[in-house]
Amino acid sequence: MKNSEIALERYRRLIAHVEAYEAALYAKYAPHIACTAGCDSCCILESVCAIEGFRMHEALRASGPAILSLVAGNRDRADGRCVLLLDGRCLLYAHRPIICRTHGYPLLIEGRVDFCRRNFTELSTIDSENIISLDALNEALARINILFMEEVDDARFRTDRLFLRELIAPMS
Ligand code: SF4
Repeated sequence: MKNSEIALERYRRLIAHVEAYEAALYAKYAPHIACTAGCDSCCILESVCAIEGFRMHEALRASGPAILSLVAGNRDRADGRCVLLLDGRCLLYAHRPIICRTHGYPLLIEGRVDFCRRNFTELSTIDSENIISLDALNEALARINILFMEEVDDARFRTDRLFLRELIAPMS
């Protein structure tokens, strides 16, 4: 198996890890989490790493002309919002990057816990088992990304960061 394929499998496992974290968080704290479809405050993403760009590119190609045309219409937006955001929703929600899967939740970042202030408004503490380390996630993703870039066939995905607006055009 090529390193890029091993990396894609590891990336899928990392996503599953984040989804399990999210499920455990909601099982305990759902009434305290305000995140909902239509709240797009966090959607200001501009770029992703190569393996996430590759996965999103593949998902976009498979998404059909209607979604492609909506995304293309967003390419030159100048309001600072993510090019995949339309009417408060992510056009590629099922394939969103790791960082988007943690938006709003309790994250450990450089030794400090942070979360969206619309969440947990009536709580003074959050159990440590329900806090995810963004630094550890980023480190795991960086390792997977290096492995991916070593052997990916498409040269466009052998660069550390990809701008989403470049990713969506041209779609080939
Ligand atoms: S990829 Fe989707 S979830 Fe992430 S910032 Fe863009 S619109 Fe929001």
